[in-house]
Amino acid sequence: MSGRLRIGIDLGGTKIEGAAVDASGSVRFRRRVATPAQDYAATVDTIIVLIKAIEQEIGIAAPVGIGIPGAVSPTTGLIKNANSTWLIGRPLQHDIETALGRPTRLANDANCFALSEATDGAGAAAETVFGVILGTGVGGGIAIGRQILTGANAIAGEWGHNPLPWPAPDEIPGPPCWCGRSGCLETFLSGPALASEHHRHCGQELSPPEIVEAAAAGNADCRATLGRYTDRLARGLASVINLIDPGVIVLGGGLSGISALYEQVPRLWTRYIFSDRVITRLLRPVHGDSSGVRGAAWLWPPDEVP
Ligand SMILES: [Zn+2]
Repeated sequence: MSGRLRIGIDLGGTKIEGAAVDASGSVRFRRRVATPAQDYAATVDTIIVLIKAIEQEIGIAAPVGIGIPGAVSPTTGLIKNANSTWLIGRPLQHDIETALGRPTRLANDANCFALSEATDGAGAAAETVFGVILGTGVGGGIAIGRQILTGANAIAGEWGHNPLPWPAPDEIPGPPCWCGRSGCLETFLSGPALASEHHRHCGQELSPPEIVEAAAAGNADCRATLGRYTDRLARGLASVINLIDPGVIVLGGGLSGISALYEQVPRLWTRYIFSDRVITRLLRPVHGDSSGVRGAAWLWPPDEVP
């Protein structure tokens, strides 16, 4: 097999996915296992076993990239900002490299998503791509020239814990966030936030897919909930455009499946963006669920021969 294969690992809160990706971006082999939640040592072991299994399948020791739900602190090398909290404060990169006996590359999972879509996905033609995760949590990553912008504190693109911009009086201070502050974008734009917003206004317990479905069928309450969601997303993304002015913004995560967002958000964001014309495109992801492993694999870019 090609020596240009690389291995991408997507470490999630409930599952760990691994894949071998070739230089053209094709996924050659893929395996998914459950994450040993709350158990750091078992998480490291499971990742190593998964890498070894993939290497046995492809017949070589390929370079390994790992997408993590957090960041590696540039000052300590320890994991921070992980909503899989059992990883926080742990030397994950060091422990994996020790067990494997060679260097690996780790990056935030939203950064991996942005890199995947920037390399050969929705943002392939754009110089600057902002990748947004709208799921259980809200994250973001920036790719410039098909490279991740990590940042001095390894938090570039961490948009979910900025406050909701241009808030209305009833949006202040906003719901409390697990990060310790209130009114973070994540508290308005995550899947659970959409469900609790609907419950707050209408007293109905509906999941985000149920809200979307009912809105499409003409339910006025659900349409109003989605309308508030759409306007908040437009405001949040307008502040990103005003700062880094990306050519493409790609949505990922479960809520990226809401079709109406792609039409309505760009219509709404113009009033908040400091430009007479806005040519930034809001696009669906090309690689869907594969972006995690693909982006992790692309931490070893195509022109870099291991
Ligand atoms: Zn927060």
